[in-house]
Amino acid sequence: MLDKVLIANRGEIALRILRACKELGIKTVAVHSTADRNLKHVLLADESICIGKASATESYLNIPRIIAAAEVTNSIAIHPGYGFLAENAEFAEAVEQSGFIFVGPKPDTINLMGDKVSAINSMKKAGVPCVPGSDGPLTDDSDKNKSIAKRIGYPIIVKAAGGGGGRGMRVVRSESELVKAIETTQAEAGAAFGNSTVYMEKFLENPRHVEIQVLADGQGNAIHLGERDCSMQRRHQKVVEEAPAPGISEQMRNKIGDRCRRACVEIGYRGAGTFEFLYENGEFYFIEMNTRIQVEHPVSEMITGVDLIKEQLRIAGGQPLSIDQSQIQIRGHAIECRINAEDPQTFIPSPGPINMFHSPGGLGVRWDSHIYAGYTVPPFYDSMIGKLITYGESRDEAIARMRHALDELVIEGIKTNIPLQRMIMADENFSAGGTNIHYLEKKLGMSS
Ligand code: ADP
Repeated sequence: MLDKVLIANRGEIALRILRACKELGIKTVAVHSTADRNLKHVLLADESICIGKASATESYLNIPRIIAAAEVTNSIAIHPGYGFLAENAEFAEAVEQSGFIFVGPKPDTINLMGDKVSAINSMKKAGVPCVPGSDGPLTDDSDKNKSIAKRIGYPIIVKAAGGGGGRGMRVVRSESELVKAIETTQAEAGAAFGNSTVYMEKFLENPRHVEIQVLADGQGNAIHLGERDCSMQRRHQKVVEEAPAPGISEQMRNKIGDRCRRACVEIGYRGAGTFEFLYENGEFYFIEMNTRIQVEHPVSEMITGVDLIKEQLRIAGGQPLSIDQSQIQIRGHAIECRINAEDPQTFIPSPGPINMFHSPGGLGVRWDSHIYAGYTVPPFYDSMIGKLITYGESRDEAIARMRHALDELVIEGIKTNIPLQRMIMADENFSAGGTNIHYLEKKLGMSS
């Protein structure tokens, strides 16, 4: 087992990693910016080091400073969490070349999945269903592009191979818009991601977002832990997640999960990962793979009983998977509401001091958060300040628990999206289950 792990992140995920390390008897090193001296995990870690100024480029995104912190503390491994450097192949490589263990996949795998064209190609080869598309990058041959679009059938979506965060894509509804849309997306992608490669896909009008959680040890063993539904989104940002996804039968789950599991073995995947799919009319269409732990991992933990962060750490320590597919039993239902420091109507971030805080509790209620009374939410980072997760034997029970847990949760001094989450939990279409990715924006009166 790893002796000492440096946590290269902040906020709730840093605390989540620290808790897993403590349970495994691993020593912890917290790195933090000058704005984050009072983060809960910094106070609880065995050692902590300030690595720079508040701006992320000077701290959480600064590779040399993080490596230097690992060196002076004699850390064995570095856990990147999510966001920041978690999917940065250059970082993973720097970590390994400096003699540390990167808690995640090999740098080559991060590169392979970071380029959507190569990711789609390798998934197709492994038998994972993908969106019908251009089967590779588009060239400057307009006639050829028109015939590809015609074969796929309008509407289509032009997407940047290096895109991320819901940026670098454009929907095209007729041939007359195609050439210009390709040129514009190429130019935008070049400027935003330093890679102007674009490809084409069928645009699905009303899909749900359903994703499969996997764990692989890089030694030939891989399992899937079922699916999550993350369709409740605003501006491509997930707001509520749940597991299992409403309406997915055990047979469908096993079929798609098995494809993902086999794909992991085929590409030599190591660590925790997520295959993201659009789901429409009973079919799954792969869109991308995330090569890291995700924000919404707790809902999968609740229904499987597997601690995903502990598994990540065991795998990084070179141990083979401790569980096989037959031991994964899905039981009950879990829902996660992301709690953000933001105005519930305008969504403008609301940093500042929390002068009163009370956390919810009771059977089936989990609160993953670093905040406490007296803590000040800094303005420099993501506005998510906690995740409220409820578990029930049934979906209805999980929703009922979420409603009372949201009522019990008190955060004063800053604005939060608790009122928005209450509204979603009271929504009858959410209660019925199976709403698509446009539902929340339509309900909020936003065009999507
Ligand atoms: P990113 O890496 O930027 O998150 P994704 O490929 O995961 O990009 O797509 C982000 C979102 O864009 C999806 O969740 C979905 O809402 C929309 N989208 C992407 N591809 C399609 C498609 N083929 N049809 C319909 N919507 C799509």
